[in-house]
Order: sequence, then C-alpha cells, then structure tokens
Amino acid sequence: MDDLLQKTWNGERVSEAEALQLYSLPLETLGALAHRRRELAKAKAFDGRGNEIITYSIDRNINYTNVCNVYCKFCAFWRSEKAADAYVISHAEIDQKIEETLALGGTQILMQGGHHPKLTKQWYLDLLSHIRETFPSINVHGFSPSEFIHFQEVFDEPLEEIIRDFSAAGLGSIPGGGGEILVDRVRQKISPLKAMSDEWLEVMAIAHRQGLATTATMMFGHVETVEERIEHLERVRVQQDETKGFTAFIAWTFQSENTKLNAPTVGAHEYLRMQSLSRIYLDNIDNLQSSWVTQGREIGQIALRHGANDLGSIMIEENVVSKAGTVYCMDVADMQRLIKDLGYEPRQRDNWYALVDGVAA
Ligand code: SF4
Repeated sequence: MDDLLQKTWNGERVSEAEALQLYSLPLETLGALAHRRRELAKAKAFDGRGNEIITYSIDRNINYTNVCNVYCKFCAFWRSEKAADAYVISHAEIDQKIEETLALGGTQILMQGGHHPKLTKQWYLDLLSHIRETFPSINVHGFSPSEFIHFQEVFDEPLEEIIRDFSAAGLGSIPGGGGEILVDRVRQKISPLKAMSDEWLEVMAIAHRQGLATTATMMFGHVETVEERIEHLERVRVQQDETKGFTAFIAWTFQSENTKLNAPTVGAHEYLRMQSLSRIYLDNIDNLQSSWVTQGREIGQIALRHGANDLGSIMIEENVVSKAGTVYCMDVADMQRLIKDLGYEPRQRDNWYALVDGVAA
C-alpha cells in the first residue's frame, strides 16, 4: 500500500484495482490524497493562484417541460401529457426567469426537461434562437445526453446534425445529466428506457468533437456496487483522454424521497469517500464540484477539502417564487462565507471555469 500511497501523492494515474484499494483507506488519508491531487490539478489556474481560490457560479435551473415518457424510478418530477400540472414553458416565462437570473449577476441557465414525445425540432431551435437574440450574454447549458438520444428518435435525424443545429441556434454547452452510473446493468434497473452507457458517451464525444464543452456527472448510492462506481469513473476518464471536452465532474447522492426506488440514503462519510476517489481517479478533469444540494451546505464545504475546487451554483430555486421575489437554497453571501471560512478566496466563474472578471482559467 505504501507504494500506492506515494504514487497517488505524486499525481500518477491509478488503475481500477488500485482505486478499489484506495477506497478502503481511512477517510482522513483518502481525503488528504484527494486534496493533494486537487492542488496538483489547479496549481497553474488563475495565473498561478488556483490553490488560493474556490469558485462558484450563479445560474438558474430551468426545466422547460415536465412531460416525460421515460418513467425513471428515481424521478419524482415527470408527468404524463394529460396530467393537470403538466407544462411546457413559454417564451414569456423563460424571459422572466432569465431576467431574474441576470439581476442576480447570473451568467448561465441550466436548461433540461422531460422527454416530451411531441415537441418538434423547430420548437427547440426557436427557443434557443429566442434566448440568444434576447439575452446574448447568457450561456445556455442545456439538454442532457439522454434528451439528445430522445431527439434522435423523435426527429429521426443523426445526432451530429441535431447537435450542430442546436449549437448554431444558440446552445453553448451540454450538461452531464443522466450520467447516473455508466454501467448498463445498473441503468437497466433504474432507468431502462433512458440512454444506455454507450449512447450517453456517444453524445458527449460528438459534442466534444464539435467544440462544445460538457460536464460529466455521477449519481450514486442506489443499486450499484463500489466496483461499478469505479467502472463509471473509468469510462469517463477514457472518454476524456479521447475527446478532452469535460470541463468538470459532479457527483451526487441519490435522494429517495417521492421516488419508486428504495435505497438507504448515502451518508456524508460515503459521499466524501467517493468524492475523494473521483478526484484521484479523474486525473484528466481539472474541476470537481462539491454537492451541497444533496449533502447540505456544511458537507458541501468539507468536500472542498476532499478534492473539490468548486462549490457549484447558487441554484436559484424553481417553483418556489414568493411575492417578495425569488427564493434561494443558498445565496451568494452564504457561498462566499463558506469558502472564506476555509481560508480561500471566493470567486464567481463562468461555465468554462474562467473567472467572471476576466482572469483566464
Ligand atoms: S428522463 Fe428525466 S424527467 Fe424523465 S423520468 Fe427520467 S429523470 Fe425524470
């Protein structure tokens, strides 16, 4: 084990078998190794100040429709077309949400939705063009790979063409939603009608080749084994070696409330262990976000000492808009305080991990 510890400390690549060994280390040791790897990964960022800064972003999560015919067992969001509370967003509604985002200093919208069986390609292109013309400074980080696989079927067009046309209409980058665990045994159990592993990775590869940045994600703590989590990391790492388009990796834990999938909630210890291992394994992805949304702000803060270098987004709360204005789960002041408490300088970033005031990533 000593050799493996030294190798990990030095920043060398670890294998799947070695990752499994590292996973059994005491959390303090694993966390320290992950922190070391974070320092190696970010040493040259921000003009050499990468290890003095922790970043965050201000963006808004917009779900353009809740109509979906995929029925994932972990999802409490989807509705059938006929449900009383089914919706498809209008241009006026999206304008209002983006205006609120801009007023808060936001730079981006994260736009994802259900797999609506009837929306046409032109509907999406019109939406993207409308946003670009009305709000040219806003980046649309939109449509997860499983949505693109769905579009491929509904539009009956090759993925390359769809992604190229979406990009030309205003799509700026693609989120890694629906990554879950990139092992088909797991996907067959939790979301059998959604994109399988190869399809998810194919969308990402095409996007990267067309110059679109994307993120990679992992949702864990349901039916998968630790070995399958490591296999997931391996598939992401191999893809990144080939196409180099993942800007960040984000892992979060499955939340079982209101879903059909029963699994004991993953606690902070296991979350931090997996976060640490992800940083060590993914030696070709510079940025790791901590997951305060599922783990709470305190654990989200501690994750910044377990390999993460970014606190994610303030996540302007959807569907909870009071008369006094938009309600947040955590505001910018909270984020800045959590970061400063750890001894870092908090800085807002954009989707490409450049500081919003213009210092290059
Ligand atoms: S595809 Fe998305 S919206 Fe549809 S059921 Fe699955 S997670 Fe929910």
